[in-house]
Amino acid sequence: MIVAIDGPAGSGKTTIARLLAKKLGVLYLDTGATYRALTLKALQENIDLAEEESIAILADNLRITLQGERVFLDGEEVTDKIRSPQIDKNISLPVSFKKVREKMVFLQRRLVENKDAVVEGRDITTVVFPNADYKFYLDADIEERTRRRKQYLQEKGHLLGYSEVKSQILKRDEADFNREFGALKKAEDAVYIDTTSLGVEEVLDVLLSYINRSNG
Ligand code: C5P
Repeated sequence: MIVAIDGPAGSGKTTIARLLAKKLGVLYLDTGATYRALTLKALQENIDLAEEESIAILADNLRITLQGERVFLDGEEVTDKIRSPQIDKNISLPVSFKKVREKMVFLQRRLVENKDAVVEGRDITTVVFPNADYKFYLDADIEERTRRRKQYLQEKGHLLGYSEVKSQILKRDEADFNREFGALKKAEDAVYIDTTSLGVEEVLDVLLSYINRSNG
């Protein structure tokens, strides 16, 4: 069983997908983390982020291991490092290339293999697992998404102002919605959920009600 979840930055996908995977007792795959690890590796190796070929080679050789919510790159834990504002700022260009995305989609499918999983990202319901058993699109208004992201960064020790966080989200939105390959869009058969005024448990209940309805 594959549950596919897409949505923009700050829509609550990561929190919800993690909890849902735990509740269902299945694998959790945050594909954003794989793109973040790729960007971190490129920065560490001083690779030009505008160089499609070089980034694609990097993607082809990326050694990522996932242990629940923890992410390891070349054996080193990078769970917190990949979520820094520096990665937020630099990620949009390397993830826009066709060749890079093809390699990463291959990697993501391999990480799931034949397992049951909750997989979240931007193109999961449309490209990575278009035949997923359940498809959801989570959304929230820009103010709420900014508030959530700011709070998350603050908890990790990154004290950014509200307007700076908001402008970074808007920039990522612009790139995510408009790139040529793997752009964020709602799949026709995905369930749209606006999480702006919903708590985590409420969103989880909505998803579970869809899953249990068609299971029972
Ligand atoms: O989900 P998260 O915000 O961690 O994703 C980081 C970035 O990775 C996104 O802004 C997006 O550009 C990219 N991404 C992507 N395709 C995915 C998941 C994430 O392009 N499936």
